[in-house]
Amino acid sequence: MTHRVLVVGSANVDLVVPAERRPGAGETVLGGDTTVSAGGKGANTAVAAARLGADVALAGAVGSDSYGEILLESLGGAGVHTALVRRVERPTGIAYITVTPDGENSILVSPGANEEVTADDLAFEGARVLVASLEIPLSTVESAIAAAAAAGVRTMLNLSPAAEVSSKTLGALDVLLVNEHEAAWLLGDGADPVKLLDLGPSAAVVTLGAEGALVITAEGTAKIPSPKVEAVDTTGAGDAFTGALAAALAEGADLEAAARKAVRVAAISVTRHGAQPSYPSAAELTEG
Ligand code: ATP
Repeated sequence: MTHRVLVVGSANVDLVVPAERRPGAGETVLGGDTTVSAGGKGANTAVAAARLGADVALAGAVGSDSYGEILLESLGGAGVHTALVRRVERPTGIAYITVTPDGENSILVSPGANEEVTADDLAFEGARVLVASLEIPLSTVESAIAAAAAAGVRTMLNLSPAAEVSSKTLGALDVLLVNEHEAAWLLGDGADPVKLLDLGPSAAVVTLGAEGALVITAEGTAKIPSPKVEAVDTTGAGDAFTGALAAALAEGADLEAAARKAVRVAAISVTRHGAQPSYPSAAELTEG
């Protein structure tokens, strides 16, 4: 535990209900038993990095309710430092997820406490990499990236869910991380991903699902193939990739080596159910 990753982002409780079909307007449908699990992009990213042995802190907010307690316990249990997770007088963020037999999810997110996260929640001492994702206020993400850049901390933004980030923020990024949909949202359909660099970041990484990822730098573009696996649940795969990339960068890996590690971590995560429970440890990665 010698390196430090600082994640700023959301922490949610996921309430997952299986149902034969999703209710229409004004309708009540009886579903199966509810599963309660820890989620949120920020928390998932922090847990993925911590599993790999990174010294990682999450800056975020949860409510003073029992769900907040559950999230703090699960983060702590995974080895994430939680001193920067503030308890606020808002309900903990909740994702209400309906899963139908066709495997489709419908998700309603109530951000609650996540809307209270501010850049004042950050502390950069010892941090080598700041990782930000959305699901918290955009102004917080922009201030956090500016503050990290000023403090000499490497900056990484997982632009998920996609949001209108200023060109100043994009220009302060060491790594812009997006999936294919977010890349298309930024550049337009069919555009060459290399154009992501024109938006300002020093480097960009585009995740390609089962195909792996692209690493785009001023030197050129490298395609990092994914190991072939049998995917059973891709929930949180993007966050697994993000956490692993940040952990490897904090250890001093170059971006391409970090992406090679991240595709292996994310590939393992899709072979297991759930988000956080699917993330591998450093030992499992060596076995693989
Ligand atoms: P999600 O929303 O499911 O968390 P995402 O849309 O943000 O993911 P993806 O590009 O779908 O991002 O996946 C992220 C990474 O997960 C990929 O770069 C890849 O390494 C891994 N991955 C996803 N799906 C598969 C798969 N079917 N087989 C192997 N690896 C996969």
